[in-house]
Amino acid sequence: MKLYKVKKSNIDRNGRGLYATKDIKEGTRIINYVGKIITKKQSDESEKFDNSKPIYLFELNSRYDLDGSYSFNKARLINHSCSNNCDYDGQGLKLWVVAIKDIKKGEELTCDYGFGFDQDFRNFICKCKSKNCCGYIVRAESRWRINKKFKKINRINK
Ligand SMILES: [Zn+2]
Repeated sequence: MKLYKVKKSNIDRNGRGLYATKDIKEGTRIINYVGKIITKKQSDESEKFDNSKPIYLFELNSRYDLDGSYSFNKARLINHSCSNNCDYDGQGLKLWVVAIKDIKKGEELTCDYGFGFDQDFRNFICKCKSKNCCGYIVRAESRWRINKKFKKINRINK
């Protein structure tokens, strides 16, 4: 039995997400993130990755990237959350989605997309609804920048 199923997402109202079909223990490999292995040169030159953030593009090592933007890659449906219960974990040329905490049956599986903080962060609104949601899809280490910005704006408005 698979540990996940595809269902309409609570986070991405227009899209789908992956849900736990049973209780999952921290550290469990839930799904293999599959796609096409391409060279850095290919991903640098491909227009496919130009205009939007490379949501489905992963760096495997200094030479190869993994392009997961294919319908056979169910793991691409996992949504971003500011309090994610899964994370991506690579080993060699393989990439897994691993539980980083105990997950209850029926919970939506979420990852940290790892987007950096740059000018277009405002284009990627986060709707994860978690208590610590910073409002945008930005990786955990960069969220303080946004929080700082929000604080400044709040101060000016007071
Ligand atoms: Zn969020």
